[in-house]
Amino acid sequence: MAVDGETGEVVIQPSDEERQELAGRRASREAARLAARTLRGKPGATADGHQVALLANIGRPADAAAAIQAGAEGVGLFRTEFMFMGRAIPPGEAEQADAYASVLSAFGPDRPVVIRLADIGGDKGIPYLGLAPEENPFLGVRGWRLAYGETRSLLITQLRAIARAGGLAGIVPHVMAPMVATVEDVIDLRELVAEALRSLDDEAERRAERIKTGIMIEIPSAALIADRMAPHVDFMSIGSNDLTQYTLAADRTNARLGDLQDALHPAVLGLIRMTAEAGSQAGMPVAVCGELASDPVGALILVGLGVGELSMEAASLDAVRLALHGASLDKLRELAMRALHAETAAEVRELAS
Ligand code: PEP
Ligand code: MG
Repeated sequence: MAVDGETGEVVIQPSDEERQELAGRRASREAARLAARTLRGKPGATADGHQVALLANIGRPADAAAAIQAGAEGVGLFRTEFMFMGRAIPPGEAEQADAYASVLSAFGPDRPVVIRLADIGGDKGIPYLGLAPEENPFLGVRGWRLAYGETRSLLITQLRAIARAGGLAGIVPHVMAPMVATVEDVIDLRELVAEALRSLDDEAERRAERIKTGIMIEIPSAALIADRMAPHVDFMSIGSNDLTQYTLAADRTNARLGDLQDALHPAVLGLIRMTAEAGSQAGMPVAVCGELASDPVGALILVGLGVGELSMEAASLDAVRLALHGASLDKLRELAMRALHAETAAEVRELAS
């Protein structure tokens, strides 16, 4: 029996030809892995030197070491739900500050760490918050929308903890809010950040001198008015997982709709393009931190669409770095334009292969 460890393909009693074919596949993958490793430590860039920051997504402080080892140029998405799950009461401010400070310190002042406000709700219920059950949780009180009700205090505590973490590490932290839908949301976010900083000052608590404030673009309304969102924030990061789910109206947890959950769908790419253009007009780089960024084909198209930063699981950094080094920006722009005008996600994939 022979097994292709990457695809999971099993061949029972392989012929000599099949053995050779599998050995060939293993050798070429090994060669690609080695080539990718030689680029580690170099910043992400296209063949003609156009810089694309390659960042890591992490889900807890312990992930920082592997991300640094893999050559991450920072953290584009630090998911903080780990702080809130598997416990009976919300985490305290000092406990959160210590956890966030450990990641800020690990990456130091030159590699940014984007801490995401808790993305609770949707499929991530937290029993002790007592949130009312909803008919459509993905369209309900989720992410930033916790600020709409009594749970607002949870976000203030988290923002205070992030500011204190910045003070402990001596680093200006980046914070971003998930599930932002409107300009009112963004203005409210800024007010909450200001309130958190003010309250720390009132208590003479040590804190970062400021917090760089950004939003996730993962609801189509936000992408469609990204040009009006951008002036209110320091940065924008596209959550392609949710942007795909909401654009194609396909619940990301529903396996029966798996075919619809393709972030390379031209409708999703169109919204990404609008966001990238809005960022470039406002003079700020736009990141993608959804899974599309960790797919080498997706990464190439994203850079062609004008995305300046890609954030992904640490294990994908090598492959994406290698893919970018093999293509010029002009070629990627051309590919992206063709992808935008394709009829289907399958057609986009074919264009890139
Ligand atoms: C996304 O939606 O693309 C994203 C990065 O956030 P999450 O997967 O945590 O919802
Ligand atoms: Mg999301």
